This record gives sequence, C-alpha cells and structure tokens, in this order.
Amino acid sequence: VLDGVRKALSRFLSGKGDYERAVKEFIRDLQKELIKADVNVKLVLELTKKIRERALKEEPPPGITRREWFVNIVYEELSKFFGGDKKPDIKPKKKPWVMLLVGLQGSGKTTTAAKLAYYYKLEGYRVGLVAADTYRPAAYDQLKQLGEQIGVPVYGEPDNKDAVEIARRGVEYFVSRGFDIVIVDTAGRHHREEDLLREMREIAENIKPDEVVLVIDAAIGQQAHDLAKKFHEATPIGSIIVTKLDGTAKGGGALSAVAVTGATIKFIGTGEKIDELEVFRPPRFVARILGIGDLEGLIEKVRRIKVEFTEKDVEEFLSGRLNMRLVYKQLVSLRKMGPLRKILQMIPGLSLKIPLEIEAGKAEEKIKKWLAIINSMTYEELDKPEIIDRRRIRRIAYGAGVKPEDVRELLKQYEMMKKLSKQLRKRRDLLEKLQLGF
Ligand code: GDP
Ligand code: MG
Repeated sequence: VLDGVRKALSRFLSGKGDYERAVKEFIRDLQKELIKADVNVKLVLELTKKIRERALKEEPPPGITRREWFVNIVYEELSKFFGGDKKPDIKPKKKPWVMLLVGLQGSGKTTTAAKLAYYYKLEGYRVGLVAADTYRPAAYDQLKQLGEQIGVPVYGEPDNKDAVEIARRGVEYFVSRGFDIVIVDTAGRHHREEDLLREMREIAENIKPDEVVLVIDAAIGQQAHDLAKKFHEATPIGSIIVTKLDGTAKGGGALSAVAVTGATIKFIGTGEKIDELEVFRPPRFVARILGIGDLEGLIEKVRRIKVEFTEKDVEEFLSGRLNMRLVYKQLVSLRKMGPLRKILQMIPGLSLKIPLEIEAGKAEEKIKKWLAIINSMTYEELDKPEIIDRRRIRRIAYGAGVKPEDVRELLKQYEMMKKLSKQLRKRRDLLEKLQLGF
C-alpha cells in the first residue's frame, strides 16, 4: 500500500532542488499514502503538521544532510506516536491478571488467546484460558484444542449459551485455583452489532478485567477507526494486538485504532502458528508502514547496542577483535534486547552460523550460567580466552559452580562470535552507514 512512500523517500533523499519545496512535496506524498493506507485523515494532518514544523525549525547534527535529517524526523514522529523507543509493558502488574480479548470475528482472537497463553506460560506464569464465545459453533472446541497443544487448561461450558456466565465462572475457576493470568476469549459476532457490544460490556462488568485487549486484523483498513471507537466505548481498551502482519497488509489501520483508544500496541501476530507472536516494536512497525524495510529495524537495534556498549566496545567488535569482557556485555544486553541473531538476520546477505543460539525458554538460565563463568575468569583469561586450556576450564567451572561442559560450551560460542566479528569487519562500511542514523 505504501510503496509510494518508498519511492517518495528515495526521490526526496536524492533530490537536489529547494529544500523547503522538497519537504512540502514529500509531506504531500506521505499524506496521500497514509490516507491510502487507511490512516485517519485528521491524524495524518496532525502528524504531518508536527513533522513540517520540526523540519523547518531544526538543524541537522554534523555529518548529516538536511534531507537525511528530515527523513529521520518523519521516522521519529511516527515512532513516537506508537510509543517511541519504549518497549511495551507486557508484564502483569498484579496476580491474578485477567485479560479480556475483544474484536471482530476472524480477527484472530482465539488464536491470539492461545498465543498469549503460550507466551506467558514460557515466561513462567500459570495461565488459564476461558472460552466465552457462545456464538460461533465449535468455538469451544477450537480453543480447547489449542489449549491442549500448549498444555494450558481451558474452561468452557459447551452447552451453555450465556457468555457472561461462562466468563464469570471461568475467571472464578482459575482465580480460586491460584492461577497468575486468566485470558478470556469472546465472540466477535452476534445477530446484531449492539448485541455483541452489550455482551462485551456485561462480561467486563462481571469479571472486571485488568486489561481489555482489542485484537485487530492488519488488513482491516479504514474501518479500524470506527470499530476501535465502538469497542472502546463499550469497554475501555487497554492494549491492542495487531494480527496477520505476516501477510501483505501493512497495518496502517492500527494507527487509527491507537489514536482513538489511546491504547498501546503490545503484541503483533506474525503467522498462524502458536509461537508467532512478537512483542511490538514501534520503529520496526513504522518502517513497515513507511515501506522502508527491515534496515530500519537494524538501525534501531544498532543504536541500542551503542547505548549498551561504549564506542570503544563497538569499535572492537566491528574490527574483529573480541574478548570475554565484550561477550559479558553482550550477554547482559541480550537479556534486554533479544538475540543478536535477530539483529544480524536483518543485515541483507549476511548468512552464517549465528552465535549465541539459545534454546527458547532457556535463555535466562543459560545467560546466568555464562555470566557466572565469565565472573570466574582471570583478567588474562578475559582478554585472551584463547589461553583457556583444560586445567583452566576445570578451575573456572569449579569457581562458577558449573560443569566443565558449560565452560566449553561458552568457549565454543565465543569462537563463533569471534568469527562473526571478523566477518562483520568486512561489512563495516554498511554498518557505519547505518549507525549514522539514516
Ligand atoms: P477469531 O474469530 O477472532 O477467534 O479468529 P481466529 O483465531 O479463529 O482466527 C481466524 C483465522 O486467522 C484463523 O485461520 C487463524 O489461523 C488466522 N490467524 C490468526 N492470527 C494470525 C496471524 O497472525 N497470521 C496469520 N497468517 N493468520 C492468523
Ligand atoms: Mg474465536
């Protein structure tokens, strides 16, 4: 949908003429494309007004052209709108935490309910699912089946048509058994729309959810605005999940849903499989909406590495030098930003065995172990891990309270990382460009 923006961007960046006129032209193109992508018109005007003001007022930092700076402003303003650099807060603020999923039929509610349950289960929470869609035939069976697949109990009353009652009893059932999170799946359709909205309101009044989650299909488009408004009026929306972002839809409608409800997007669905749910990252999403592609995601991440690493660290890593102190920092930042693997996959053409492969769900445990191992190394060993022999391995393992195999595994990871760091040196030019900030 927003292919035009990509073209307008490159036209803008390579253009030579009058800056102000180019800005005006680009903003007009952007408006046209956003509206075409179903973003609410008023919202588009507000956004572009802010962008224009900044563009005419701000001076770019040294080394960056005005035009590059302008694109950065566009990117920043859109990202800010979606929550900026902040990671959405997905941790339940109390226990039990009751989540009510609402949205149209077919939006992906039931699938998302199971995905969420699985996600939180892997985070260590005890999760229960409640099947409160009594409108769609076999809705209970669908959720039941998904629940079995992920080992999460499902509460349902297949013969009862009263969704409010089921929701109330289901929540009670899990809460009284000490569950941490209860996720309630609901109907997305009724004979009449008012009936559906009334049912949502009644369920909410009865179970007093801690978080009402609006599930919307990325392809919903212009309707997103009215739909979000109606649901929000029935029961205040606390967060949004955009599904089917693996398809061709860019998800521009989500922009409107965010604007209407004031809620933040917390997760996105990226496929039919149960683990295809990702924590929402505004800059990547904006890059997608703008059609800039994945490099933007990379820029964002590279910037974050810079926050964690000192200039010197990055320099060392990118120049093919590596030591255990750097690995240590990498491990610590991994905990915060997700696997390096993901970052590197975004660099086009870079395919190699990616270091620090950690089995999903075991990351925390493993990282803790590795940090303990690194803590047991001498300064000499930290700077030159190559000298670590069998005798040293045994001593380190003893000191860290782990098995020698664990130390060996970390050393193997280190070797792979070292190889990568060498390969990266060859791609340095690219990374350097990216670090400039567009
Ligand atoms: P509900 O009516 O809102 O409960 O929607 P369902 O959970 O039954 O999902 C409707 C269809 O969308 C199913 O075929 C799902 O497999 C599919 N679906 C849900 N989420 C995603 C997603 O993130 N990506 C893709 N490709 N399909 C999805
Ligand atoms: Mg359903």
